[in-house]
Amino acid sequence: MMIESSQKTNNNFLTNSDKLILSELAEGIANYYFYNGAVNPEVIASENNISYSYGNYKDSFDGMIECFNKDFHIYINIDRLEHAYTERARFTFAHELGHFFIDEQRNALLLGLSPSHSCFTDFSSKNYAERQADYFASCLLLPQNKIETDCLKRKFSFQLISELSKKYQVSLTATAIRFTIIGNYPIMVVYSVGGKISWYCYSKDFPYWSLRHGKIKIPENTVAGDYFYNQVTSKSTQEVFASDWFDNVFESHTRRKFNEHCVFGTKSILSIIWEG
Ligand SMILES: [Zn+2]
Repeated sequence: MMIESSQKTNNNFLTNSDKLILSELAEGIANYYFYNGAVNPEVIASENNISYSYGNYKDSFDGMIECFNKDFHIYINIDRLEHAYTERARFTFAHELGHFFIDEQRNALLLGLSPSHSCFTDFSSKNYAERQADYFASCLLLPQNKIETDCLKRKFSFQLISELSKKYQVSLTATAIRFTIIGNYPIMVVYSVGGKISWYCYSKDFPYWSLRHGKIKIPENTVAGDYFYNQVTSKSTQEVFASDWFDNVFESHTRRKFNEHCVFGTKSILSIIWEG
């Protein structure tokens, strides 16, 4: 498997070829072990002779994978993830499996190039290898065939992302990202931390590809911008115009109507944007 440099950090999320490779890898594993039922990362670990444990490690990591004498062990930090059965613990477990199943990363662990690997998961890290493992986790836990059935004849709204997130016990961030690839309506997802855009991604048929102020600065007249610049928190879906968020908007399309729904984390904001 050819995966691009693991040292790269950028705001371009992941390359299209990496997304394709990672989704095929994860879906193959999900279908092999759980063709009909819900995916259980613990079972995948056991079937691959990966041991695991849940422990209290304060703030040092969400999860970690370690390779010792060619044996792999996954640590899940319940201090940060509450307990073993939260959606974040489940996602972190799937993320650690990504480091094992992505050839380049497993080989680095086996060769002792990175004998242990501390992770902060759910698309919060700017490290490319972490983002790859996060993406693998979202594909593993949100199988395409099941999501497509769930979305049939559904009109898009934030409620749909919320329902899928609850049903598959995966965060809203991971669910929204997955929706850009396999959902039935074009959306854009923008993730900001501390007033700056960390990354954004969008469905291939979303009408705009570039943001008003480029890849870092949040545009002012948006729901995310209102929070950063005016300390206004809108928890419901709000209407925005094409020219509020996007660059390269035809003059006749500046008032084209979009919706933005923000999810506010402790440090982050996830903006989900769709036309309508
Ligand atoms: Zn990781």
